[in-house]
Amino acid sequence: MSGKLVIGNWKMNTRADSAQALASALLDHAATNREGVGIAAPAVYLAALAQTLKGSRLALSAQDVSRFAADGAYTGETSAAMLADIGCRYALVGHSERRQYFGEDNAALLQKMRNAIAAGVTPVLCVGETLEQREAGQYLQIIAAQLAILPELTDGDYVIAYEPVWAIGTGKVATLEQIAEIHAFIKNWCLQNIGSSDKIRVLYGGSVKAENAEAILATENVDGALVGGASLDADSFRVVCQAAGKLI
Ligand code: PEP
Repeated sequence: MSGKLVIGNWKMNTRADSAQALASALLDHAATNREGVGIAAPAVYLAALAQTLKGSRLALSAQDVSRFAADGAYTGETSAAMLADIGCRYALVGHSERRQYFGEDNAALLQKMRNAIAAGVTPVLCVGETLEQREAGQYLQIIAAQLAILPELTDGDYVIAYEPVWAIGTGKVATLEQIAEIHAFIKNWCLQNIGSSDKIRVLYGGSVKAENAEAILATENVDGALVGGASLDADSFRVVCQAAGKLI
């Protein structure tokens, strides 16, 4: 495992021009145009961005991948093989917005993880509890249940992102103690259930921004960040990536 990983999740934002402008701004700076930094752009812009990023060190990520592996009659879907074909290095899997609005469950997410790995795209499995689940004291069980697909994967590299749902896009940030607790829990869970945690990077996501990035990234067992809102602004994202770069 080398250095911290920061991925910017643009969600359903940007247009062709603004996506290119944002990518170009990131390419212009050593803090963002380097190994360990990626952008998860809308599917429709991935192919054009792949051309823009060609030869750079900034990695391209998809925000989702199909649970169907083979080509066929799956209208609207983008397969892992297609993502690999245009040079996507990562794909988010099971972001809480996909779980919430598209009803993605463990069975579908396991297929997505398998397909990405088989195509050579590194999946980033997002896990995290809602506020209700946290307040009910169920958060560790919820996270364990979301991680439960991992022992089914027999090979391949993947990343985990802990994203408390109540901290995504809300401006509410988990405390460093809460982050440390869950990241230690995830690492320990991996050790117990997969037999190793050394190679698995665990990112934190949830209102990470310029002002809090350094403290979050310096927290024990935090191997990087998944950044939503702040990744849409080149200057803010650069500060987050600079903080990550200092901690390599
Ligand atoms: C996300 O979308 O994964 C995320 C963490 O969003 P934000 O940083 O805006 O909370």
